[in-house]
Order: sequence, then structure tokens, then C-alpha cells
Amino acid sequence: MADVFDLDDGSLTDEQVAMRQTCRRYVDNVLRPFVRNDREREWRFEPEQRLTPELLEEADRAGLRSLGIPEAYGGVALAEGTEAQTFAIIAAELARGDVGVADKLVQNWKVAVLLRSLAAERLQEEWFTRYMNEPQFLMAHCLTEPRGASDRWLPYNSPKANMDTKAVLEDGFWTIDGRKQFISNGYDASLYVVYANTDDSAGMLQGTSSFLVPRDTPGLHVTRCNETIGGRYMNNGEIVFDNCRVPEDHVLARGDALGKAGVYFRPGKIMQAAKNIGIGMAAFEDTVAFVHDRVQGGRVLIEHQAVAVRVAEMATKLEAVAALLRHAAKAVDSRRSNADSLSDMAKVFAAHEILAVCTQAMELHGGYGAMLEVGIEKYFRDASVYLHMDATTDISNFRIVKSLFPNTAGTYAGPE
Ligand SMILES: Cc1cc2nc3c(=O)[nH]c(=O)nc-3n(C[C@H](O)[C@H](O)[C@H](O)COP(=O)(O)OP(=O)(O)OC[C@H]3O[C@@H](n4cnc5c(N)ncnc54)[C@H](O)[C@@H]3O)c2cc1C
Repeated sequence: MADVFDLDDGSLTDEQVAMRQTCRRYVDNVLRPFVRNDREREWRFEPEQRLTPELLEEADRAGLRSLGIPEAYGGVALAEGTEAQTFAIIAAELARGDVGVADKLVQNWKVAVLLRSLAAERLQEEWFTRYMNEPQFLMAHCLTEPRGASDRWLPYNSPKANMDTKAVLEDGFWTIDGRKQFISNGYDASLYVVYANTDDSAGMLQGTSSFLVPRDTPGLHVTRCNETIGGRYMNNGEIVFDNCRVPEDHVLARGDALGKAGVYFRPGKIMQAAKNIGIGMAAFEDTVAFVHDRVQGGRVLIEHQAVAVRVAEMATKLEAVAALLRHAAKAVDSRRSNADSLSDMAKVFAAHEILAVCTQAMELHGGYGAMLEVGIEKYFRDASVYLHMDATTDISNFRIVKSLFPNTAGTYAGPE
């Protein structure tokens, strides 16, 4: 197959090439066969019946769980100046196999990056050590609540938009009460980062704190696994905190938790776009195979001009997403001032273009595109989820225009 949409622009380091090779072996030998051998498995409504433990164990053996974990605790050390780019390359490869499983692993990398920057050393030692010893150990990042997430992403910095989840400090313990929903890994994580209001008189940027909350803390209840349209192997969940007490030192950032979360959000958006392009790569691969095999009008489909044009459009979209993603990931790695808006752009652009690629894949497969056992409809479902994750496309566009024109675009984002 033609070598298109490769995130390798010829500048990958030996380390990145080796990691990608390892990841590709995991995807081709373990993940893809798992997904393809039983396409009904992701639709089982008992979440425990979906993934088998071997999937995470094999990922662990391949070193794919420990990206972002400090080397001192046994993690894979990534070169600092190219870390976001490496995250992107590996996330895309994983998502080529299955985006839900990719999300499971990527969520851990993102939370690890946040913890290594904010958690007290004692907590890092305790939790990173456990993480490295337990292949089924997952982490989650709990921002969204029933009253909405967009206000957080803008952010709408007014007390009336504060989180409903509250945390109060008393006698050396924080007591957390509230509900978080739509949380990646939420159903089966062992460790949660939780955002809560700690000052009702201040806006979100001054009155939000973040906490480390282990799953077995009394008062933490995992109340549901959401049945999502795509990324179903990720087990998105809802968590209720009812008089949930954690020691005072479990606070990660006090007051300015949203400001301190940039280390999570920036590479996070790069990884969202990367997972999305992984879906597009898989859809393209399958479509190219199909149009070279299926015969209509006495010729394989690719020999029909209208089909060839669609394939060209798919390839062009993938190349364009890959180019912007590479550019944005480099900006994050080199801490350029426009890194935030470039990562938003990459995420939004990927969300629309990859969904369009998957729509083309559906159309080119004819009726087979709609059949569960063929798997093309899965790409379409998986890509649709990316319109919402880490801020909706509209909210992301507000953030972009606001960073370009801070004085005139401010009103879109509420009071500062
Ligand atoms: C698969 C999946 C995984 C997720 N994982 C996580 C996770 O791990 N952790 C986490 O905390 N959250 C997670 N989320 C939540 C996600 O971040 C939110 O769903 C998303 O940010 C949108 O928030 P909302 O659902 O509350 O919609 P709302 O904020 O209610 O938005 C609804 C609509 O209103 C629009 N809107 C909102 N405000 C404005 C405005 N001021 N001006 C104009 N239009 C506006 C939005 O663009 C959208 O179209 C996940 C969501 C999904 C689907």
C-alpha cells in the first residue's frame, strides 16, 4: 500500500522507531485479532465481559503502559524534547488496533504526566510503584459533572459556574462530595484525579482544587459504566463521592488546579488527535484492501474513477491531519507560546476530517459498511466520539479564536 499519512516525517529518533515497531507488533499480533475475532464482544453489556486481562498484560509486557511514568519508578523514559511527539506516534498506532484500548492506555500516560508534576514524592512512590506492579491498574481524570463540562474548558471564570463537587478541609482531611460523569477509565480505574470547588466565592480559576483519590477510599462509589457509541472497550464511567475523605496531602493543586492542569491538557489534546488519526489509518487500510478486491462492472472498484477520487480524498485528509498533528506536537514539545491553540486546532481538525474519512469508508464499502462483522461501521462510531472528548469542537474553536484575538473574542468565553 502507498505510504501515506505516516506520522514519521523522516525525523523520528531511533527510540521512537523502536517503540513504534514494538507497538505495531502488539497491535497486529494481539489487539487486532482480538477485536476482529469477535465483533460482538464490545457489545456485551457486562463491562467485565469485554476485555480479557491478557490485553493489558500483553500491553504491559510490550512496555506500552508505562509511558509518562518517571524512570525512577520503572517507567519508559522518553526524551523530553520529543515526548508529545512520541505519545502521538504510539497513541496513533494503538488506535489503529482499537481506539477504546488506546484510550485506556493513553489515559494512564496523561494522568502519569500530571501526577509526576503535581503529586508529593511520597504519593508518587506509592502509586507509581503499585501501577508498575499491577498490569490491570488504570487511572482516570474526573473533571466533567452532570451540570456540564464546557464551562470548564472555556473556562467560564465566574462563581456561578463553579463545580458542584465540593471539597472541605477539616482536621487534616479533605471531604469530597459530588458526582463526576463521562469519565474515561471511570468504571475500572484504581486511582482517580478529582477536581472540586474549594472556594465558592472565587471563580473556577481561583477556587478549584484537584485531589488524588484511590478507588478503595470509603465514600467513592462507581455508579455506572456508560454504554457509549464508540471506544466501547474503554469503559467510560460515572463516580459519586459521598463524604469521601482523603488525607490533606492528597491535594494536587489548591485553588489553581485548572491552571496547573496544562501539563495534562496540552499533550492530552495531541493524543486525542493522534488516536483519531489511528482510526482513520485503519479505515483507510481496510478500504484500500476492499477497493482492490471487490469487482463491479467487470473491474475492481479502484479502477472506477469515482472510487479512485474518493480514495485520493481520504488519503489527502489523512496527510493533512498528520501534518497539523506533527506541527502541533512539536510546538508542545518546544513549549511554543501557540502550543495551546495548535493542539486545539489539531484536535478539532482531526475530529471533522477523520469522521469524513470514515464516512467515505462506509460509502465505498456499500452495504458491507453497515455490517457489524465487517468492522467499518465501528470506525465511524469510534470517530464520532471525538467530536466531544476534551471539549466540544465549538468550545475548542472559541479557545482558538480567543487566543488569536484576545480582545475582541473574549465575549464568546464568558467573563474573565
Ligand atoms: C467518550 C468520552 C470520554 C470522556 N472522557 C472524559 C474524562 O476522562 N474526563 C472528563 O472529565 N470528561 C470526559 N468526557 C466529557 C467531555 O469532556 C464532555 O462531554 C465535553 O467537554 C462536553 O461537555 P458536556 O457533555 O457537559 O456538554 P455541554 O457543555 O453541556 O455542551 C453541550 C453543547 O453546548 C455547547 N456549548 C456549551 N457551552 C457553550 C457556550 N458558552 N457557547 C456556545 N455553545 C456552548 C457545546 O459546544 C455543545 O455543543 C468524555 C466525554 C466522552 C464523550
